[in-house]
Amino acid sequence: MSAAQQTIHVGGEWRPAVSGATRDIIDPADASVFAVVSEGGVADTDDAVAAARAAFHDGSWPRTSVAERADLLRRVATLLERDREKIGALESQDAGKTLEEGRVDVDCVRDAFRYFADLVMNESGGRVVDAGTDEVHSVVVHEPVGVCALITPWNYPLLQASWKIAPALAAGNTFVIKPSEITPLTTVALIGLLMEAGLPQGVANLVTGAGATVGARLAEHPDVDLVSFTGGLSSGTKVARAAADTVKKVALELGGKNPNVVFADACATDEGFDTAVDQALNAAFIHSGQVCSAGSRLIVEEPLRDRFVTELARRAERIRLGRGTDPGAECGPLVSGQQLAKTEDFVASAIAEGAVLRAGGERPEGPGYFYRPTVLDRCDRRMRVVREEVFGPVLTVETFRTEEEAVTLANDTEYGLAGAVWTADAGRARRVAGRLRHGTVWINDFHPYLPQAEWGGFGKSGIGRELGPTGLAEYREAKHIYQNLAPRPVRWFAG
Ligand code: NAD
Repeated sequence: MSAAQQTIHVGGEWRPAVSGATRDIIDPADASVFAVVSEGGVADTDDAVAAARAAFHDGSWPRTSVAERADLLRRVATLLERDREKIGALESQDAGKTLEEGRVDVDCVRDAFRYFADLVMNESGGRVVDAGTDEVHSVVVHEPVGVCALITPWNYPLLQASWKIAPALAAGNTFVIKPSEITPLTTVALIGLLMEAGLPQGVANLVTGAGATVGARLAEHPDVDLVSFTGGLSSGTKVARAAADTVKKVALELGGKNPNVVFADACATDEGFDTAVDQALNAAFIHSGQVCSAGSRLIVEEPLRDRFVTELARRAERIRLGRGTDPGAECGPLVSGQQLAKTEDFVASAIAEGAVLRAGGERPEGPGYFYRPTVLDRCDRRMRVVREEVFGPVLTVETFRTEEEAVTLANDTEYGLAGAVWTADAGRARRVAGRLRHGTVWINDFHPYLPQAEWGGFGKSGIGRELGPTGLAEYREAKHIYQNLAPRPVRWFAG
């Protein structure tokens, strides 16, 4: 077991928790302790917010030129390229993903930093408004919100952090980040890179610790101006409630129960069939299904069901589980024993409610929190496994007979994060995509996202958007400056 790392970063200094508490970080591939971090509490959080507030009020960052801010973000991107292998491996071990997924995550993080650097550099810097007279100059400008609290989950620790940190910095804010207590290590590494890139002290602060203490304190803190949260629905509603008393700005990226709708015409050729099955596997089982946009509800046209599910189950059974660094491993473990127990419970309840197990449904022998990719056929919309987010390698199968029924099933969720439609009919593709109540809709694809395109959800999948221009706007206040160039009395009051 390694010695405890000092993982709290306040005002430019690394330090242990005020209480001296630490937390073990577990390798989910064998349940061993592989790192020990500082376990921050309310006192550490208050110190971090005070440092971020001081840096916002008195520091240079909110007033630096856009070009300097963009330069810094680009330097961070270059450092991420330098440390790609090291950080990718750390993410793989901490979050239980394959090494290749860890590397791809680092590339996506780099791209997010570059995207927001380019975005701010290409802006006009304000909007002149026509006040109807030459005697007034009226302009709308954008300013940083202030001190931002950034709270992130364990499934894509570094990626989710970058979708918040890059726009927050590009807009000139200071921040305190609280990564998931389960997977804090790459966020600690990223803060190191920000400092190496030359970010002024106090702009970026980090408190490692639990959601109920550090996260809750950030959400209620009177000196925090904005809280941007990515995580589950239940924690997200607590954050929104805690933030309400101080009328903070709130951005929430929550869960999903994402439909993958397959029309039979998409599988009319062998190649089409192979592609749709292959992508349905990828949609549901990449990162063992621990993806907010996982295509966990397969909704397939009835006549295609047997052929499709038989092939899907055959291929699901062949997925090779293993530690992320094992050559040949295609899927890692679940992140924790708790997540494994939750998955087992969902599968048991589905079978008790009448679902038919076609693949998986068990943990393999050996150490770690592994679970076999699982296909549950003959599911229906009343089952708990179809309604609630499992966040594990579990795919449910429902069927439809008409386009109308497909849309109804796809939209039958309290969430609305993402969904896909597979069809060879371009008109139907656009019709169905237009009717899906989800923040991202893929046509004949699943999972890709672009930093230039907004990401976020309808319904209980959240409030606000990350990425794209809207993802930057979240971190800004709009200010209207109205300048009277020829002031004179109004004489509304005669005396
Ligand atoms: P979680 O809600 O348990 O935890 C998320 C973060 O919130 C953690 O840092 C946690 O410590 C903190 N937290 C917990 N309780 C809190 C509280 N009362 N106040 C403040 N902070 C608190 O979620 P998780 O299990 O880490 O992540 C999985 C969830 O995240 C899934 O529901 C997934 O769909 C969602 N997610 C969404 C997106 C998206 O883009 N919409 C992306 C990734 C993950």
